[in-house]
Amino acid sequence: SAVKSEPMRVLVTGASGLIGKAIEHVVFKEGGKQEGEEWFFISSKDGDLTDVEQTRAVFEKYHPTHVIHLAAKVGGLFIHLKENLQFLRDNIKINDNVLHTAHETGVTKVVSCLSSCIFPDKTTYPIDETMIHDGQPHESNYGYSYAKRMIDIQNRAYFQQHKRCYTSVIPTNVFGPHDDFSAENGHVLSAVIGKTYKAKQDGTHVKVCGTGNPRRQFTYSLDLGRILVWVLREYDDVEPLITSIGPEKEVSITEAVEMIAKALDFKGEIVYDTTMSDGQMRKTASIDKLRRYLPNFTFTPLDEAIKLTCDWLVANYDIARK
Ligand code: NDP
Repeated sequence: SAVKSEPMRVLVTGASGLIGKAIEHVVFKEGGKQEGEEWFFISSKDGDLTDVEQTRAVFEKYHPTHVIHLAAKVGGLFIHLKENLQFLRDNIKINDNVLHTAHETGVTKVVSCLSSCIFPDKTTYPIDETMIHDGQPHESNYGYSYAKRMIDIQNRAYFQQHKRCYTSVIPTNVFGPHDDFSAENGHVLSAVIGKTYKAKQDGTHVKVCGTGNPRRQFTYSLDLGRILVWVLREYDDVEPLITSIGPEKEVSITEAVEMIAKALDFKGEIVYDTTMSDGQMRKTASIDKLRRYLPNFTFTPLDEAIKLTCDWLVANYDIARK
């Protein structure tokens, strides 16, 4: 019979962001935490993970047995274009410090976050987990992308040499409570939620960047949080796992914008600024692998998830990033 292992001590890095807040909710509010377990949610205030000594101090303080590694230097398109070198170096440092300190201190499992924006720019769709290194990432954010891809390379090496189960997930277009709702830094869905809320207050119109035609798999952060807690407990493959709503649920930006207007009861005008860049028209990701593991997982329907996010923003406007 299996030896009963000690309860997990889970360290979540980068936990002040959208995904960390979702995991925190699942763990403490939805019964995700099991008896005896301890969960620690940290941000850059607890230590700068680009610094190896500060990283070691964090691990010495919490003695984790498991790590969900979310911390990353992340930014919008324009800051990436300007600072690819900084994104490359900071993220390489953060990832090496976290993974190697985990290894040195005997952490048995690490789940790190890659991203669908690291996929090859020129590829065939749907993309799956076996294709992430098959071509160059989009040149706008190659620094961030190559640093993220190296997590997967490093995970394989820890497995090869030390039989460590350090793995990664690939979320796509996440949104939800605690996201950044500002027009400048927010991802498209949350930026539009923020703009629509303001336009309703001010009685003005909403301007959406681009044609509205690009299609995306928008994934609700709470769904992702539930999947991540499952990955931490059950997923034993070192290879990455795409953790996204299915390709059949892909919608155009326009369809998502209409759901936002409905959720916020916005009756004003919505203008598409076609002089602005659309970004990639699609980047459809396959979730066949996730479905093999979790055939019955139910994703929150997009209109419902958008409504929950809008309600959260309205109720928490004073503390929201906007
Ligand atoms: P955010 O961008 O909202 O937050 C980033 C987190 O990293 C914050 O907690 C931040 O701390 C922390 N951090 C940044 N730099 C450092 C540092 N030098 N030392 C310690 N901590 C640091 O995160 P999200 O929740 O949006 O994303 C989490 C992860 O998921 C990231 O790795 C991201 O690449 C990935 N991801 C996100 C997607 C999305 O749609 N949001 C999609 C796919 C992947 P502080 O708040 O103190 O600055």
